[in-house]
Amino acid sequence: MNREVIEKAENIINERKRKNEEPYTLILEQFSKDEKFSNLRKKYQQEIIENAKKEAYGEKTNKTLQEKLKKEIDEYFSKNGVKNTISYSCKKCQDNGYVDGKICECLKKEISNILFEESNFGKLVSFSEAEKGAQGTLKMLYEKMKEWCHSDFKKNIIFLSGQVGTGKTYLTRAMANELIEQGKIVKLVTAFQMSRDFKEYRSTYNETILDKYLSCEFLFIDDLGTEVIYKNSTIEFLYQVLNERQMRKLCTIITSNLDLAEIRDRYDERIFSRIANRETSISVILKNEDLRLK
Ligand SMILES: [Zn+2]
Repeated sequence: MNREVIEKAENIINERKRKNEEPYTLILEQFSKDEKFSNLRKKYQQEIIENAKKEAYGEKTNKTLQEKLKKEIDEYFSKNGVKNTISYSCKKCQDNGYVDGKICECLKKEISNILFEESNFGKLVSFSEAEKGAQGTLKMLYEKMKEWCHSDFKKNIIFLSGQVGTGKTYLTRAMANELIEQGKIVKLVTAFQMSRDFKEYRSTYNETILDKYLSCEFLFIDDLGTEVIYKNSTIEFLYQVLNERQMRKLCTIITSNLDLAEIRDRYDERIFSRIANRETSISVILKNEDLRLK
């Protein structure tokens, strides 16, 4: 993922942390004016450091005093009607964005939000909202796709083919929403925009353009087949993206008005075989009849 997006997301998380810690910092400041509290806290912090040192040297620690001091501090707080805790937005990483050296879900969520804003896609919908009114096979498909969002993602490409009005776009919005909620890095793009990005990449070789396509955990390509095909870029880089993502075991979800045969005609054999491969892909054909059941 490119540095710029990550830094932007980190800033959001840092600001959140600062905001969550602010009330606590203010309370501490006030309490510290009381010498009794101030000494108590100093002693407590010394004990923490002593114990940490001992642990680092593999010595035996005795935390009785540390715990006793902690209790006294807690009591001081509760006597003043407040709790000795900071309420972080993310309990897992305490709003650090990283936990055990790994990127936390809350930070991934912010990355997805930034990518989503860039995509100019309007709004996402929840599954419960999107499912309303869906019946028959369409309802079944919604259930299956929701399940898939929570599974171990064995298939690398999901190809949803159908005419306008079959509900495929709505379905992918719900899928993207579900994945973002789980803290996955999701990028949505129209085929139109993708083709323009590839064209720009061809002329500038600015790696951050292609990197966004290669590094997100889930890439949604909307309306494949409606874009302009630019010579020496669209087909070339689409193949590269699909291929790389397959090697990296990352998922790509494609919606299109075209069926598989038309995909083969419009693009090429290599792209067709990536999308049509039964081992690694799922193809779903949506028909208008399903919607009329509403
Ligand atoms: Zn977190």
